[in-house]
Amino acid sequence: MAKFKFEYIWLDGYHPEPNLRSKTKVLDMDFFHGDLKVLPIWSYDGSSTKQAEGHFSDCLLKPVRVVPDPQRINAFLVMCEVFNPDGTPHETNTRASIEDDEDFWFGFEQEYVLTVEGIPVGFPKHGYPRPQGPYYCAVGTGNVSGRDLVEEHFDTCLDAGLHITGINAEVLLGQWEFQIFGKGGKRAADDLWIARYLLHRISEKHGIKVEFHPKPIQGDWNGSGMHANFSNHMMRDVGGKEYFDSIFEKMTITHPEHISVYGSENEKRLTGMHETQSIHKFSYGISDRGASIRIPIATAQDWKGYLEDRRPASNADPYKVAGRIMKTVNGALVKENGAVNKEKAAKKAE
Ligand code: ADP
Ligand code: MN
Ligand code: MN
Ligand code: MN
Repeated sequence: MAKFKFEYIWLDGYHPEPNLRSKTKVLDMDFFHGDLKVLPIWSYDGSSTKQAEGHFSDCLLKPVRVVPDPQRINAFLVMCEVFNPDGTPHETNTRASIEDDEDFWFGFEQEYVLTVEGIPVGFPKHGYPRPQGPYYCAVGTGNVSGRDLVEEHFDTCLDAGLHITGINAEVLLGQWEFQIFGKGGKRAADDLWIARYLLHRISEKHGIKVEFHPKPIQGDWNGSGMHANFSNHMMRDVGGKEYFDSIFEKMTITHPEHISVYGSENEKRLTGMHETQSIHKFSYGISDRGASIRIPIATAQDWKGYLEDRRPASNADPYKVAGRIMKTVNGALVKENGAVNKEKAAKKAE
């Protein structure tokens, strides 16, 4: 028998964005091969996380995804959903509320800013560095800051088996991005939350704060987004301009619903400047980084592939974002055997 450490991770009840919470459970086991079913339901004091009243405080943690914890010995990270004592999903359990569709692939581009005492790393204590321009994908002292932390996070995500597909320095000095890919909305969002958890945990020992606010620095500085790249089987393998147009049509109608779950204070970022479209407008365009949805050039070539929703803010809950995208896209034209089935689409729209 060995002692294994399981870090149960969950989202608390804070508004408008939840915080990550976690605590460690030790289990005696001969071995652990990643089987979720052997991990017990656990409980915590929901009155300390804005999820329960003091006199009836227990909330339940149900493991939904487990990966190795590369920074501890004999340890695993366990993403959990929160349930009420009666077994129903807690109202803050956004994962349980989405209708998942394994047919959807998501690639989230998570931007964030590293700060010390509220100032981005690399910024002088007073005033500003050179205007933005040289910092994106940069190298060299004065051009980037915080790389040690970023590299440590990158390797830890890879070692944990998260589907991280890349990193880059961003437009604002001290701002970085990592990308998480997943098949199915829940899987992609689980991995993004675990990657965020690791980023926060690693930041502790560097004395640096990870800032997910979408517009941490006012003025002529880029904000932070969480571009959501998405595709389903129809988009990837069948395609056709007609199908994509029907997605854009649905996206136009549902713009307010999307914005409502794309993160708080996003209006400070979606201004129509700094590679964004205004929060009040919906637009789409080929290779257009000033649009709400960018159509990658490769997708437009044969109308097959993925789309990039540029609206989600860096602080958005990826469960909500993925859930909303799947809902809207599933409401678009229905195709069968490669042909647009207008009758079925009309029925669906009723
Ligand atoms: P950008 O040019 O916007 O900075 P990135 O390379 O940072 O683009 O991010 C693109 C993302 O798109 C990656 O996370 C990648 O995994 C994802 N992606 C690629 N193909 C697909 C697809 N078919 N469906 C969903 N996401 C995809
Ligand atoms: Mn990117
Ligand atoms: Mn970016
Ligand atoms: Mn992007």
